[in-house]
Amino acid sequence: MKIDYHIHTEFSCDSEAKMENYVKQALGRDIRMLCFTDHVDLNPDDYGYNYYSPEKYFEAFRKVKEAYGEQLMLCSGIEFGEPHLYADTLKRLTTYPYDFIIGSIHWIGNMFPCQKVREQYSAKEFYTLYWKEVLNTVKQGGFDALGHIDFPKRYYGEIYYVDAEIREIFKRLLDKEMIIEINTSSLRKGHTETMPGKDLLQLYADCGGRYVTIGSDAHVEQDVGEDYETAKSLAEMCGLRQVVYRERKRVIL
Ligand SMILES: [Zn+2]
Ligand SMILES: [Zn+2]
Repeated sequence: MKIDYHIHTEFSCDSEAKMENYVKQALGRDIRMLCFTDHVDLNPDDYGYNYYSPEKYFEAFRKVKEAYGEQLMLCSGIEFGEPHLYADTLKRLTTYPYDFIIGSIHWIGNMFPCQKVREQYSAKEFYTLYWKEVLNTVKQGGFDALGHIDFPKRYYGEIYYVDAEIREIFKRLLDKEMIIEINTSSLRKGHTETMPGKDLLQLYADCGGRYVTIGSDAHVEQDVGEDYETAKSLAEMCGLRQVVYRERKRVIL
């Protein structure tokens, strides 16, 4: 049985996929738990700025749950960008009945790791700024799992970190009873490692991390559940257990 706890639908600006199509794909692939985690982006420079509508999302979610809820477990979620900068909006959104909230850093001020930025900032320079934002966001909290912790890797193709800084991030995260996800989308972009890869996962475990969620970060239904086994065996190798969330509560599988 597979699980996918990070997928995007038409309620994200960068996806046109219907919830129902994900469900149909999932049923054919032995996926028995899905969480629809659409983008909530409040950075004015983001293409998806203010795109998300919880009303429209839940209207569709209720319909698909009614139609397929007995065949697989369907959960509601969001991937909220830069939670520490928009804490009030995040708090407001949590009045909706979400099962799971991912907090992700995509932006550092008005910088996204696009080609132009990559020409200006070396990987080391960019990561240095990036980890500061990650630390700020885990200090603030308010979400369940930190998304794709080494996100710049998807664009730079490499990773840079200082051990002590990552330990501090994990400590703060775990103090707030939050966890990280294993995001497999980097594998579909030609990289050899999931986000995070084995070294950071091992560091997370060394810092006391015990749980992870696993998600494909699919934006089209054909990618649902992709590389699930890779992520699952990586988690097991590091002594981590996969969990899901229901009504914002961790469920150990
Ligand atoms: Zn993301
Ligand atoms: Zn995502």
